Amino acid sequence: MQKILVANRGEIALRVMRTARRMGILTVAIYSEADRLSPHVRYADEAVCIGPPPSSQSYLRGDKIIEAAKGLGVDGIHPGYGFLSENASFARAVEDAGITFIGPSPFSIEIMGSKLAAKAAVREYDIPMVPGLDEAIKDIDKAKAIAREVGFPILIKASAGGGGKGMRIVEEEANFESQMKRAISEAESAFGDGSVFLEKYIASPRHIEIQILADTHGNVVHLFERECSIQRRHQKVIEEAPSSILTPEIRERMGQDAINVARSCNYRGAGTVEFLMDENLNYYFLEMNTRLQVEHPVTELITGVDLVEQQIRIARGEPLSFSQDSLQIKGHALELRVYAEDPSDNFHPSVGKISVYRRPRQKNIRLDDGYEEGLTIPIYYDPMIAKLITYGETRPAAIHTMLQAIELYEIEGVETTLPFGNFVFNHKAFTSGNFDTHFVKKYFTPEALEKDNHIGAEIAAQLAVKLFENHKKVLKTPDVSGSEWGNGRR
Ligand code: ADP
Repeated sequence: MQKILVANRGEIALRVMRTARRMGILTVAIYSEADRLSPHVRYADEAVCIGPPPSSQSYLRGDKIIEAAKGLGVDGIHPGYGFLSENASFARAVEDAGITFIGPSPFSIEIMGSKLAAKAAVREYDIPMVPGLDEAIKDIDKAKAIAREVGFPILIKASAGGGGKGMRIVEEEANFESQMKRAISEAESAFGDGSVFLEKYIASPRHIEIQILADTHGNVVHLFERECSIQRRHQKVIEEAPSSILTPEIRERMGQDAINVARSCNYRGAGTVEFLMDENLNYYFLEMNTRLQVEHPVTELITGVDLVEQQIRIARGEPLSFSQDSLQIKGHALELRVYAEDPSDNFHPSVGKISVYRRPRQKNIRLDDGYEEGLTIPIYYDPMIAKLITYGETRPAAIHTMLQAIELYEIEGVETTLPFGNFVFNHKAFTSGNFDTHFVKKYFTPEALEKDNHIGAEIAAQLAVKLFENHKKVLKTPDVSGSEWGNGRR
């Protein structure tokens, strides 16, 4: 593979290109008119404008992307995550054009893209599933009878759902019928597929997923777990590896189950098998994501494996160069997704121009970002600015470095999830490891952020006084105690 086109934007486009360049492969960026000045465009060896800002006219235009790739003699396309990454028709069209799709086969994408088809595929492997009904149902009376059997609250899920969308919790039987009707019509309009099914609503779940790698020679390994329970709107904001609650035995079992999920659809490349875990450490298969995940860096930091490099090697037909036994967890890694969102206003997007942007630079901090000072965050795409990732020999060490990184990272002009991160990484429920997917609902209020700010302001004021005192000693300035400043009243 001599030249790779990255069919994506922002941090992930850059992240993929960095590895490609390190491997001696030329890179091609695509961009929409809204992203002309983006760092990924400048970083690439070549760049092609693919269309106007809306993603339906640019990053989702598979036909234009393939045309550009052919024109530039590209021999591999990496889809990143989101956009066309889980689009089986795109993967097929890429291969039909004689270009290697750096990802799984269209067949695997198709099966795992439907939650119901995925459950059907893994059935013969004896993998634990959330109790419920694993088939599309329209008959409301029948569905109600099953819901009663499984027990309320129950979750109605769209088979084609994703990104935290297409789920309805039904607390009690009286609401079942109306919720079921709404779920079907929502699934039809949002995903073009009205198939819904039923899952027991796990009251206090943790989201734990397993990274796998599969080559085209029949080798499949897992690279342990990532814990992604800190979510808002069923979407992840903070991830870590390893999870603080898995025992080596459960890790081993989950890893084997994840490998079997991969085998069930003849998987190749990097993929993630998602599970929910209840309070008693029972786990259930949720779905498989057939792409590189946003949160993949935490796995890279604890295993030392570059997942993008592995994706490229697998796409080139190389066998995996390591076995399961040679993989080990070393240390602990955390990731905070830094979104242009206002955590004190229900995490609403806060797009606009980044007027100040200073990166935290320190040992054990990795920053995967896609913006620079002066750039504007477009309204058209996911408002993620960066992923702030820290590493430590232990979990407390990684948390300590994360808090320092948040302090050092300066972003002005838009609101971000940095203060929210500060809140979480300081919170006892997080530091003790005793939390679930309801962390935000249980503990987080905008007021908590304000309190945090006050504490921050107080610490800053104390620091300033201390610094001043020290300077005073050095410079032998006249004693100002008794003045407003000296009394610390400012
Ligand atoms: P999506 O494809 O939209 O990401 P998932 O099935 O992966 O949907 O679920 C996303 C999140 O929704 C999970 O991490 C969890 O927080 C919540 N969730 C999903 N299924 C259940 C369930 N049966 N019980 C409780 N929470 C669930």
